Amino acid sequence: MIDPASGLDTTSDVLIENDRITAIKSSIDSNPGDINVIEAGGCIVCPGLVDIHVHFRDPHRGQVHDETIASGSAAAVAGGFSTVCCMPNTKPALDTPDRIKYVLDQGLDIGLTRIHTVGCGTIGRRGEQLAPIAELVQAGASGISDDGDGVADEAMMNSVLKAVADADTCFMQHCQDPSTTRGASMNAGALAMKMGLVGWPASAEESMLERDLTLNKDIGARYHAQHLSSGGSIDLIRTARADGQPATGEASPHHLLLTEEACAGYDTAAKMNPPLRRREDIEAIKLGIADGTITILGTDHAPHPLHTKETDFASASFGIVGLECALPLYRKALIDEGVVDWPGMLAMMTCNPAALVGLDTQGIGMLREGGPADLTIIDPDAEWIIDPGSFRSTGRNCPFKGWNVRGRAMATIVSGKVVYQDTRIAVA
Ligand SMILES: [Zn+2]
Repeated sequence: MIDPASGLDTTSDVLIENDRITAIKSSIDSNPGDINVIEAGGCIVCPGLVDIHVHFRDPHRGQVHDETIASGSAAAVAGGFSTVCCMPNTKPALDTPDRIKYVLDQGLDIGLTRIHTVGCGTIGRRGEQLAPIAELVQAGASGISDDGDGVADEAMMNSVLKAVADADTCFMQHCQDPSTTRGASMNAGALAMKMGLVGWPASAEESMLERDLTLNKDIGARYHAQHLSSGGSIDLIRTARADGQPATGEASPHHLLLTEEACAGYDTAAKMNPPLRRREDIEAIKLGIADGTITILGTDHAPHPLHTKETDFASASFGIVGLECALPLYRKALIDEGVVDWPGMLAMMTCNPAALVGLDTQGIGMLREGGPADLTIIDPDAEWIIDPGSFRSTGRNCPFKGWNVRGRAMATIVSGKVVYQDTRIAVA
């Protein structure tokens, strides 16, 4: 059992009664027949995994679903995630209390992963008018973001940060200066020139991040930079944290494992926002993880219908699905490469993200007697081949197709209920 929040790393039994953990002890007697026993020898039992950055595309306009909260929830638990936070760039966007409640209610009805939501910082994510941030938080929003876009206007961003601080929530910024990324589809540089594509400079991310951190110096809001792609951004977060700012940064599987070279051949599966960058950037992100600058992993699970990917590179949509293959990909990038150990990596997938969005106060992201029985059982060495065709997500857009990986969720338990179970794990 590994619980990064308490430092627990031991061999133990855990007893679940109803929706709570009632005992964590080296050996728990049970009357056979009284109790369901999951034999998890050789596995890691940890707090249910938390992903604070997913797109489940509901509410949506029109008849075609890129994803539903039901299919997204099934994908989450199959990947070991017992809690997710849905981004508000739905159609319409989550900028009213009613829409926040709609998403939360869907999650409760489906009853797989815990569904939380993030509300908009500005109305319609247009960056022009402040959203009713306090009311969105009151309605249950776990954070605020205009993800898909950054808040470009400085005065508006200042107001957003103040409202976020007043509401004691967090802001998650999609750092992208729109003025330097118009029509851009991949990392700026020689490869983009050779391919005839408009380049997206690292400065588009770094300049917005730098501006935000300067604005936030006096405001002190919980500020989180999503899906960081550039080494320069890691340095900015490092400096801000050293100055005592409550700033956090996030790394995504693709920005840890793929470079711009994956775009060669115009493979639209490698088209991301922000774009895949260079080997040096990957190394800088890993260094940031190793030294505690970057403390949160998020998939940016972004399902798209195939026809929007099966087109020319410049017009294809950005993003990939991530929930069902994130765990072994993080393992490959971080544990196999000696960046962090299992407790270190699991902290970035449990207590750290839970604390950012305030779910730690409900006992999410940790294992403790009396706390909610959300657990994930991981076989760290299970070998498998990533096959997007078998995903529960409706999204098939995944550049890791065919990769041979190690590590898999064997069971996901939410509120005491086994909501996902691999056939390879025994229940007596
Ligand atoms: Zn984003």
